Amino acid sequence: MQGPAPSDALPSVHQARSVRLTVAALRRATSLRVWGGHGCGAPCDFCRVVVAPADVEYEVEASLDGKSLVLHFHRNCHDAWQAGQTAASDSDQRDGPQGGPSSDAA
Ligand SMILES: [Zn+2]
Repeated sequence: MQGPAPSDALPSVHQARSVRLTVAALRRATSLRVWGGHGCGAPCDFCRVVVAPADVEYEVEASLDGKSLVLHFHRNCHDAWQAGQTAASDSDQRDGPQGGPSSDAA
């Protein structure tokens, strides 16, 4: 049974989010600051798996829709997230190679 959240709770970037970010929201988020540490028990925002205390956790202070929030990532997931953001912005201009295998080796 879950009661409503107290309305006078101060907004905090470290506040636990009850709603998880969608992939689209993750892509819109802009990384402001990144720092590393050990897993604090928060789930990774990319793969939704809790970052183990023995694992390296990337904490990202990000801006999303004018709000700042903290994202938690595994190291690999942070890389994947950054790569996904790059790919998303690149998809606007289709000027590069298609990425298919080159059959030019005749
Ligand atoms: Zn992850």
